[in-house]
Amino acid sequence: MRPIYLDNQATTPVDPRVLERMLPYFGPKFGNAASRSHAFGIEAEQAVEFARKRVAALAGASPREIVFTSGATESNNLAIKGGVRGGSVITVATEHRAVLDPVKSLESLGCRTIVLPVGRDGRLDLDVLRAAIQPDTVLVSVMYANNETGVIQPVREIGAICRDRSVIFHSDATQAFGKIPLNVETDHIDLMSVSAHKIYGPKGVGALYVRRRGPRLTAQMDGGGHEGGLRSGTLNVPGIVGFGEACALCASEMETESARLAEWRDRLEAHLIAEGATVNGSREHRLPGSLNLRFHGVLAASLLTSLSGVALSTGSACSSAIPQPSHVLQALGLSTEEVLSSVRFGLGRFTTGEEMESAAGQIVQAVRKLRALTPA
Ligand code: PMP
Repeated sequence: MRPIYLDNQATTPVDPRVLERMLPYFGPKFGNAASRSHAFGIEAEQAVEFARKRVAALAGASPREIVFTSGATESNNLAIKGGVRGGSVITVATEHRAVLDPVKSLESLGCRTIVLPVGRDGRLDLDVLRAAIQPDTVLVSVMYANNETGVIQPVREIGAICRDRSVIFHSDATQAFGKIPLNVETDHIDLMSVSAHKIYGPKGVGALYVRRRGPRLTAQMDGGGHEGGLRSGTLNVPGIVGFGEACALCASEMETESARLAEWRDRLEAHLIAEGATVNGSREHRLPGSLNLRFHGVLAASLLTSLSGVALSTGSACSSAIPQPSHVLQALGLSTEEVLSSVRFGLGRFTTGEEMESAAGQIVQAVRKLRALTPA
């Protein structure tokens, strides 16, 4: 028996409709989208441009503002390293490593980097941001929603502050894109990173939204001048086609899907709170399928090993070989003990109500067993 998959923040299964769309591009439609001299290339180019429209539509952008990349890590690197040549940069303590590390790398260029704290709810205080922006501030990078807690930042307000102060606003929207409505215009976003494999598309493809007449970026990948010179390299046509289909499905199913996931997440939460669990981060400003809980007196690592029927995680899948206590939960002010007793739950499109109930039952049993083993 395969375990119940509750780790949809790490990655999502490819939607069969997405896979079906992609398959011809591994077969007869194999053309290079840059080969405009024949039908094979033109067919591939048209498929890429159709996908570009679908990705743009989900972001509220124009197709020409979409640069295809290999994923959100690359998009973040292009936005941050490509957008900053000096001055100071502001980010937040709960960002993904794919933002924190490129920001840190700017220090070797002589840039000043500022990492702002968050409140106990995981959200950035707008006054803290206002006070941090200085005349030399070039870029502010704040994620849309967090990959561990699901906490949604006040992005629209942050965007308005950046616009008023003429600072570039980059948002890593990897977890929010396709899950909640967002719009680069109303949110005042200049650069936005997204990834296909978090929205039931394939791994290894993503995009960076780059506002037209906005920030001037330096390419991080030089070569044939693809993607308006911002990202050279033969395009991943099957991946891009799949990404476009994934975006179109999210656009049409977001409303019903998010209502269902929020309801089931709340039911799972209620089961586990009844067992003495505490929610980490804001409950109000949270992605629909996301939940992060700590079980007092229970080591999360032990809980995960004793739960063979449920695939769960304590946090980011992307960190180094040496497990470190989550920097995200530490930034919320949790003690090391609390961090080490925290578990992340991620429901997704293919989670069933039955699976959610069964997982809740298995987790409750495992928590009780572990508590019985641990002297109070
Ligand atoms: N940012 C966030 C918030 C993420 O959750 C992830 C994926 N864990 C990434 C960036 C990296 O995305 P990708 O796997 O597409 O490089």
